[in-house]
Amino acid sequence: MRLIAHRSAVMQLIDGKKIAQERQDAVTKAVQKLATPPHLVVVLVGEDSASVVYTRNKHATCEKVGMKSTLLKLPATISEDDLLSKIHDLNQERDVHGILIQLPLPKHISADRIMDAIDPHKDVDGFHPENVGLLHLGQPRFVPCTPKGVMTLLDSIDYDCAGKNAVVIGRSNIVGKPMAELLLQRNATVTICHSKTKDITTITRTADILVAAAGKPHLVTADWVKPGACVIDVGIHRMPDGKLTGDVDFDSVSKIAGWITPVPGGVGPMTIATLLENTLQAAEGAI
Ligand code: NAD
Repeated sequence: MRLIAHRSAVMQLIDGKKIAQERQDAVTKAVQKLATPPHLVVVLVGEDSASVVYTRNKHATCEKVGMKSTLLKLPATISEDDLLSKIHDLNQERDVHGILIQLPLPKHISADRIMDAIDPHKDVDGFHPENVGLLHLGQPRFVPCTPKGVMTLLDSIDYDCAGKNAVVIGRSNIVGKPMAELLLQRNATVTICHSKTKDITTITRTADILVAAAGKPHLVTADWVKPGACVIDVGIHRMPDGKLTGDVDFDSVSKIAGWITPVPGGVGPMTIATLLENTLQAAEGAI
């Protein structure tokens, strides 16, 4: 743990890599107890370079914890109907417990129609409308991996969200909205900011918990942050020099935050660890 002194408190780094490894180890143990290993099918359509890396990592990590993993690579030219038919086949296969469609999909394919086609009991990403609805009703089945991973990070520091002001920057269906919902369910007072929000720093400076998921490198600087706040950086960007960075300007924000996640080594590893947990959950439900 890295400690940096500032005015009245100390900043604590939230080590996502370490916490993700602990969760991964717990999944490995749980998998060993099952008669049949959980089987995740990751579907990659086309060759988007970031997606190729993400799917390769997911595939490799599944195998590391003793799960069965199939990486189904399909050409970018596949028709929506043919992709739907593949998903219907996977839905029928009893041996397949989890199905993940790597986003984004090529423009001629409707991601909404594809998500809708996945068996909601195999939807380990939690993007099917039934699972989205259940989450928002407070009866979650599969919770989207990145926001669920953020909650695990908050739990790792025993952060009590009740009564705190939480500000989420970003309103996507895969990060911002479910993130806000999870914080609300922990009794935080939640505000969602987005690209049309006016005077955003006035809002972010009220945040006890600030989650940055805007997809803009170094958007959040120290003047956006309340001293002592818990700052969670979901953003991930490959800079021209090849280094990874987040939505938060770590150098300035780490001087005033109470807690902060680094990039890399913060939320990213948690997303994969949570995917493993969701796949285990799918298999345990099916076996
Ligand atoms: P998205 O593009 O779908 O959504 C971005 C959101 O941010 C939008 O709602 C938009 O209104 C808002 N926004 C954009 N510019 C803004 C600004 N200047 N001020 C305020 N709000 C602004 O992105 P996403 O899929 O939600 O992903 C967000 C970021 O998180 C990306 O960098 C992505 O790569 C990263 N991500 C990381 C992980 C991980 O595992 N670490 C997982 C998913 C996404």
